[in-house]
Amino acid sequence: MKAIKVIEPFKVEIVDVPKPEIQKDDDVIVRITSGGICGSDIGIYNGTNSLATYPRLIGHEFGGIVEEVGKAVTSVKPGDKVAVDPVISCGHCYACRIGRHNVCSTLEVMGVHRDGGFAEYVCAPQENVHLFHKDFDESFLGLVEPFTIGVEVNRRGQITKGDKVLVMGAGPIGMTVMQVAKRNGAQVIMTDIVKERLDKALSMGADEVVLVSEENLEERLMKFTDQEGIPVIVDTVCSPASFEQSVQLACPAGRIVVLGLKNVPSQIVMADITKKELTIVGSRLNNHCFDEVIAGFEDGSLHPEQLMTRAYNYKDIMEALKEIQEHPQDVLKIVLKFED
Ligand code: MN
Ligand code: ZN
Repeated sequence: MKAIKVIEPFKVEIVDVPKPEIQKDDDVIVRITSGGICGSDIGIYNGTNSLATYPRLIGHEFGGIVEEVGKAVTSVKPGDKVAVDPVISCGHCYACRIGRHNVCSTLEVMGVHRDGGFAEYVCAPQENVHLFHKDFDESFLGLVEPFTIGVEVNRRGQITKGDKVLVMGAGPIGMTVMQVAKRNGAQVIMTDIVKERLDKALSMGADEVVLVSEENLEERLMKFTDQEGIPVIVDTVCSPASFEQSVQLACPAGRIVVLGLKNVPSQIVMADITKKELTIVGSRLNNHCFDEVIAGFEDGSLHPEQLMTRAYNYKDIMEALKEIQEHPQDVLKIVLKFED
């Protein structure tokens, strides 16, 4: 079968590799129909993703149609449309024992630490394979994973009906966080430095947007919250400065969700955290959020079609990577289609 392999930084090839076979009774073979290209795939391609090892079959956002199942598989059958959760955990470390398997001490992510889903076929354990109950557009089966990031952030930030939420950054992660927050009944104000992205955010459901290169964010937040200050902040900008600003902007008893993976320190003012008794939580990958996203796709409360900028055939991976790198501000999600 064909697969997309990053041999080493800046060297990507369509390679021929053996089609996976059922090895364990709970294995499921999925014929991939679509995948989403993520910022972290770009990081693997250009050598800036510190978690990745080479060579690697990339892709952690993918879904398709069940081709074959092992003897013990009961949740799906051949022909079913599914999305595959790339998170693989050990099941017995501290994090796994308390139900937080997405931060397992020996966590492996398909497409990062082990081979991933930009391939014609993938083998995954039954527990990672999640069923669509309706006949859903095959282009979007690979877009469940990016929305699970939004669900995880909402769970970590305990975002619920009536909350006022600041989402910093209107990139793909910011957009999924916003849509899930809106679905949960929150009001969302989003920031960016690119006007087109904010226009897109409004069209995808954001209540208000702030072009931070031209407007005063603090003033807008006070207005948005009737002078109370913003109680929930999600930082998808992930810079030392945006983290510092979050701690400064949050109102007393506020909650902040951070997603940054950079290894650079931030100059946080301790007194802001203590005096306001802020809750600051990290959010990584997803903790069993696939079924919630699929339900949202199927009932129309979450919109993968709005996240997709364009689709490419997988054989045109170089063109897709080029578009993302040359026009990062115009792209939310590029979908790769696996068909001849
Ligand atoms: Mn991703
Ligand atoms: Zn574990």
